[in-house]
Amino acid sequence: MTDGARTATRSGVRPREVATHCPYCALQCGMVLRATDGRVEVAPRDFPTNRGGLCQKGWTAAELLDHPERLTTPLLRDRPGGALRPAGWDEALDRIVTGLGAVRDRHGPDAVAVFGGGGLTNEKAYALGRFARVTLRTRHIDYNGRWCMSSAAAAGNRAFGVDRGLPFPLADLGRADTLLLVGANPAETMPPLMRHVTELRERGGRLIVVDPRATATARQADLHLQPLPGTDLAVANALLHVALTEGLVDRAYVAARTTGFDEVRRTVAGYWPAEVERLSGVPAADLEATARALATVDRAIVLTARGAEQHAKGVDTVTAFVNLALALGLPGRPGSGYGCLTGQGNGQGGREHGQKADQLPGYRRIDDPAARKHVARVWGVDPDTLPGPGVPAYQLLDSLGTPTGPRALLVFGSNPVVSAPRAARIESRLRDLDLLVVADLLRSETAELADVVLPVTQWAEEDGTMTNLEGRVLRRRALREPPAGVRSDLEILAALADRLPGATPLPSDPREVFEELRRASAGGPADYGGITWDRIDADTGVFWPCPDPDGPDRPRLFADRFPTPDGRARFHPVDHRPAAEPVCADYPLHLTTGRVLAQYQSGTQTRRVASLRRAAPGGFVELHPDLAARLGVADGTPVRVVSRRGELRAPARITPTIRPDTVFAPFHWPGAARANSVTNDALDPVSGMPEFKICAVRVEPA
Ligand code: SF4
Repeated sequence: MTDGARTATRSGVRPREVATHCPYCALQCGMVLRATDGRVEVAPRDFPTNRGGLCQKGWTAAELLDHPERLTTPLLRDRPGGALRPAGWDEALDRIVTGLGAVRDRHGPDAVAVFGGGGLTNEKAYALGRFARVTLRTRHIDYNGRWCMSSAAAAGNRAFGVDRGLPFPLADLGRADTLLLVGANPAETMPPLMRHVTELRERGGRLIVVDPRATATARQADLHLQPLPGTDLAVANALLHVALTEGLVDRAYVAARTTGFDEVRRTVAGYWPAEVERLSGVPAADLEATARALATVDRAIVLTARGAEQHAKGVDTVTAFVNLALALGLPGRPGSGYGCLTGQGNGQGGREHGQKADQLPGYRRIDDPAARKHVARVWGVDPDTLPGPGVPAYQLLDSLGTPTGPRALLVFGSNPVVSAPRAARIESRLRDLDLLVVADLLRSETAELADVVLPVTQWAEEDGTMTNLEGRVLRRRALREPPAGVRSDLEILAALADRLPGATPLPSDPREVFEELRRASAGGPADYGGITWDRIDADTGVFWPCPDPDGPDRPRLFADRFPTPDGRARFHPVDHRPAAEPVCADYPLHLTTGRVLAQYQSGTQTRRVASLRRAAPGGFVELHPDLAARLGVADGTPVRVVSRRGELRAPARITPTIRPDTVFAPFHWPGAARANSVTNDALDPVSGMPEFKICAVRVEPA
C-alpha cells in the first residue's frame, strides 16, 4: 500500500485512518492516525527515517487535539492591561484590519511585520512570504528557524552552492564506517534516528561525538570529545591539521572538485593538537584518533547540529567541519558526506519558500533581479513593487515598538517569549507594539501578550507538505475536520487579504497553494516544479531539486558537481575566536542550553501533554559534582543562574556528565525557569543566529 492509499479524500468524507507524519521534529517519523470511538490513536508507521519507531512526543501527539486548553474561538483584548475575551471571527479580523490600517497609515508598510515558524507546512511558509511582500508590502518577515538552522544554511550555501540539510538519505548513516556527530544529541532529540546509528555500529562502524556534555548520544559513542563550549571550530581545524600532517587529505578530490584549499591549509597549520588540547580540553590523542577514524575508512560522514551552530561564530564553526569533510573527499562520495541535522518539523522547507527576510520561494534571493522577476510574474505583480530584504529574526524582534521599528506584528507558529535569546527584552518589545496578533492552537506565552489571538488547526486536521531533514518532501494528511471555530493559517491569511483594502485574493486550499509554490520555486535552487502531491503519495516522498514531473528526484547531491558557477565546492579559511562573552570573576561559569527528550522547543504543546509533563515537569540546572560541592549545592536544591541579562531559577541536577566549568539548562519552560532570560543575544554576523550555546554566568543557591 502506498502512503497515499489511505489519504483523506477531497470529497469531504474523511477516512477513519490516514498515513501521515509526526507534527514535531524534522525526522518527520511516519505514523498512522486512527479515529476510534471519538478518539484519535497514533501508531508508528514504517518509513525510511524512523523505521517504525516513534519517540514519546510522537506517541502522545494526539492528546492535544481535544485538549481542554485548546483554543476554539478568537480572543480579543479591549484595552492595554485588560484581559483577553472570546470574540467572533468577524470582530477579530476587523480588529486586525483596522489596526494594521492605522499603523500603515501613520508609519508606512514597513511598520507591519510578520514572524513565522519552522513548524509551518511548506504551503503556509510560502503563503506567509507572499502575504508579507504582496498583501502587506512589508520587507519585515522572518521566522524562528533563524535560531535553529541558519548558520548551517549559510555555511552550506557558501561551500556547496546549496543548502539541503542532508544531501543524502538518512539511511546512509547505517552504511558509514565512521560517523562524527558534532553538537547533536539525537538519542534525546530524535530517538528513532539512532536506529541508523545502531545499524552502523552493528556493522562494526564507529560513532564519535563532539559535545560539552556526556549526553545520551555521547554515552553510546566509541569516542567522546568533550570540548569547552565555543571551541568546536578549533577542534575541527585541529582535525584537519592532523589529516594534513599525516598525509590523509584526499588530494585528488581537492584538486578536481574544490577551490581555495591552499588558504585553508595555511590557516589550519597553526592548530597543533597540543595547542587545541589546551584551548578546548580535548586530548590531542583523541583529536588524532578522530582524524584517522574519518580519513582511513571507505565511508565517513560528518554531521553538525545546533551545538556547532548556535554561536556568534556558528557559520565559521560549521564551515570548519565542511572544510574537514571536503579535504577528506567525503561530499558526493557514496555512503559519505557532510550534513546538518535540521531540528524543527519543517525546518528545511520552512527555510526555502519565502519566510526568511532575504529570500523568495525556491530558495531564491530577494535581491536577485532575475529571481524577483520570476516570482513577481507568478504573483501577478510588478517586480519593482516587491520590497527588498528585511532583517534577521532577533534584530526584527529587538526593533519592535522602537521609533524606527515595526509597530504591528503578526505571529504564526512561534513563541518568542520563551524561545528568543535575552527573552525579557523581547517580551518588553512585544508589549510596546500597537498591535500584536498571534495565531496558535493554545495560549502560548506570546499569545498571552497579544491584542488578538486566532485559534488554528492542528496537524491531524490539515493537508499539506513538509520537507524533512533529508530534503524529502512529504505529505501531511488530515484525519478529521477541525473543531468548530478553528481555522487554518491559510484560511486566516486569505480572510485578511479579502478584508484589506486593495489586496489581491489569496488561495486557502493547500493543494492550490502548493501548485502555485511549484511554479514560484521552478528554476530556483530548491526546485519543486516536478513535485506533485500524487507523486509524493505514490512513493515515500520526493527529494528536491525535482524540476521535471517526469524526471527523477535527487536523493543524493554532489555526485558529479556542486551547484556553484564552476561546479566546485569552495573552501573558506576560518579561525577560532573566543565566545562573545568571556567568563570573568563575576560570571565565572559557562552556560549552555538545549533540549530534553520529553519536551519540544518552547513547550507550548508538549508542556500540556500529561505524560510528557510527568516525564519532564520543569526546568533544571545541570552541575558537575565538583562545582556543586564548591557552591554548597545538593541535588534538587533551587539555584539561581545569573548573567548580565537576567536570571533563571530551577533545581540543581548534579551529574558527572557535564564539565565542571559549564552548567546546562533546557530552554522549554517559561517563567522563573526560562533559560532564555539569561542567554546572550550576540549574533553571528552572517546568519544572524544568536549565541544560545554559551554565555557567562554565576550560579548560587536560590
Ligand atoms: S523523533 Fe521527532 S518526528 Fe519522530 S516521533 Fe519524535 S518528535 Fe516526532
